[in-house]
Amino acid sequence: MSSKKNSKIFAANWKLNKTPEEAREFVIGFKNEVFKKSDFFMSKEIIIFPQAFSLEALSSLCAGTAIGYGPQNIYSEKSGAFTGENSAEMAKSLKCKYVLIGHSERREIFKEQDELVNKKLALTQSLDLTPVFCIGETLASREAGQTFKVCISQLENGLKNLDKTKRFIIAYEPVWAIGTGKVATVAQVAEVHSELNKYLTSYGLIDFQLLYGGSVKPENSLELLNTPFVNGFLIGGAALQVESFIKICGSEL
Ligand code: PEP
Repeated sequence: MSSKKNSKIFAANWKLNKTPEEAREFVIGFKNEVFKKSDFFMSKEIIIFPQAFSLEALSSLCAGTAIGYGPQNIYSEKSGAFTGENSAEMAKSLKCKYVLIGHSERREIFKEQDELVNKKLALTQSLDLTPVFCIGETLASREAGQTFKVCISQLENGLKNLDKTKRFIIAYEPVWAIGTGKVATVAQVAEVHSELNKYLTSYGLIDFQLLYGGSVKPENSLELLNTPFVNGFLIGGAALQVESFIKICGSEL
């Protein structure tokens, strides 16, 4: 799937929150609000990453609409003896179009390494799923002046041997800003996004968008969204309520 030119992407990461019933309630409430506005989806791409048990609920309410959805993680194999994992192929059968890959909580808590992230990305490409590929430095790396080194190394390892002509959504999420209320400054986001844009362009990716993630809220979304090379957001806490998610999605208006 190729990107809609000039549209902004708003991706909700619900993490380990919301039962299927709560997920359904959110989507019904969200649709009631946004489908009233005829131009809501004209310049926006909306993606929801629910917990895997709720994917079927999302599929029944969103398949065939402009609301995209997908799992927060997949395994690097399609199927087999991998107890407890999520299958990208099965996500595809629920009409998912996106997959979240390499979120810092996967990297930190579940010790996912770049090599596994790379295999997962390769699988999404083979199934024509669009990855939202997360990268970002820890506070210790930032304080050691290693921000670019860490981000570029995660990109370099994650993208190894992949098809550069396919679409990538890349989420820059400084680990120290995720779920902490500590948002990166506009200057920090501008600096990193500009470097990432330069790197990815020279690397040869044809179709990529750069998201910022880390404590995005309705109060800070407008100026962050107007930052050069910020094509949208990956949002955790503030995407759990319809009202705040819609406010963030409307922040370019
Ligand atoms: C996230 O989960 O990717 C995230 C950015 O969370 P939060 O918005 O809560 O910091």
